[in-house]
Amino acid sequence: MEIQELINKVAEREKRSQDYIKRGIEKGEIVIPYNKKRPRDVEPIGIGNGLRIKINANIGSSPDIADIENEIKKLEIAVKAGADAVMDLSIGGDVDSIRREIISHSDVIVGTVPVYQAALDAAKKQKSFVELSVDEIFDGIKKHIEDGVDFITVHTGVSKESLERLRSNPRVSGVVSRGGSMMLEWIAYNNKENPLKEYFETLLDMAKEYNVTLSLGDGLRPGALVDATDGAQIQELILLGEQVLRAREKGVMVMVEGPGHIPIHEIETNIRIQKSLCHNAPFYVLGPLPTDLAPGYDHIVSAIGGAMAGYFGADFLCYVTPAEHLGLPTLEDVREGVIASKIAAHIADIGREGRIPEKEKKMANFRFNLEWEKQFSIALAPEKARKKFEKYPQRADGVCTMCGEFCALRRTRRALEK
Ligand code: SF4
Repeated sequence: MEIQELINKVAEREKRSQDYIKRGIEKGEIVIPYNKKRPRDVEPIGIGNGLRIKINANIGSSPDIADIENEIKKLEIAVKAGADAVMDLSIGGDVDSIRREIISHSDVIVGTVPVYQAALDAAKKQKSFVELSVDEIFDGIKKHIEDGVDFITVHTGVSKESLERLRSNPRVSGVVSRGGSMMLEWIAYNNKENPLKEYFETLLDMAKEYNVTLSLGDGLRPGALVDATDGAQIQELILLGEQVLRAREKGVMVMVEGPGHIPIHEIETNIRIQKSLCHNAPFYVLGPLPTDLAPGYDHIVSAIGGAMAGYFGADFLCYVTPAEHLGLPTLEDVREGVIASKIAAHIADIGREGRIPEKEKKMANFRFNLEWEKQFSIALAPEKARKKFEKYPQRADGVCTMCGEFCALRRTRRALEK
């Protein structure tokens, strides 16, 4: 699809004028990730200022569990539950086949982190990632772009200075970004600058050729509340802000990734700092997670953080599943993660719009009138709602089994009608 067609489709979907989307792209405040050589067309999405908040689901294999069919099932579940995008983060098994299968099956745009590819290809040559040459690292990126990936995370802001800063101001939980830690180790081992930073122009040329959106990775995102908003994180953000301007000069669409683990009272600050330092580039947040004490429930933790982050200006939420920090997500974890993130995005959108959407008003009416089917028809996650409702035999009077004849809604109706 050409850019004008992408703009038209996004404008229609967002109920915005084509001119609004076009100007947003020109200013760098809106991106439409869409590889012009992707093997099949999908519905494009716009991410950024004034648009509905989008959500991403990370899927992909691990070294211990690598099953293409399972990843395709995760993809289908994520899309059915409402994901606007998926990222294939595969690091186990035949990752090339998994990625290509995901791209060819996906009805939504696809993102990846190509340095994982470089590391896996290095292993095939009996090398470790730190032994890779600059060209070999870029070969991994090229492979993904040529396969039709729509956006790639590149950890361009991790630098020699980051390493020094982390050494002089140590964190409790170090670096939790996989790609960020890989670049940091490469820098330390080779005593050279991060090649993604050093050869940023090459990266831009590659992205431009295929209309791939760069997602500048938060390699130094805090991995614990106690490490949030520290020098290393902010220093990386300053660098990413400079790279945003360079990307815009070249006409490459770019968004910026953000934390991570942040206490609730620092979420607004983090969003405002990012928007300011990164010149209003679309902000893609991972969570954020405002507590570290709820493993098993991190999808809920992240929905709380995501709703706040979205309200204050984050544009793209990466889901977190109940398996976060514990293991590879199952199919059910993927579903729960997407739904939690969808709820967060919806809540934030209401706040950003500053008015109650029609659907919310409809739900209130359907509830008051005990119209169950109609409630399910507009619920964000109808399957679970229906299952809960139908768990016990239904009552003839139409109320649910929570209060029975003490149903406050029915009683109110009777009182009002009398
Ligand atoms: S029975 Fe109770 S929970 Fe159920 S619809 Fe009536 S008021 Fe609501």
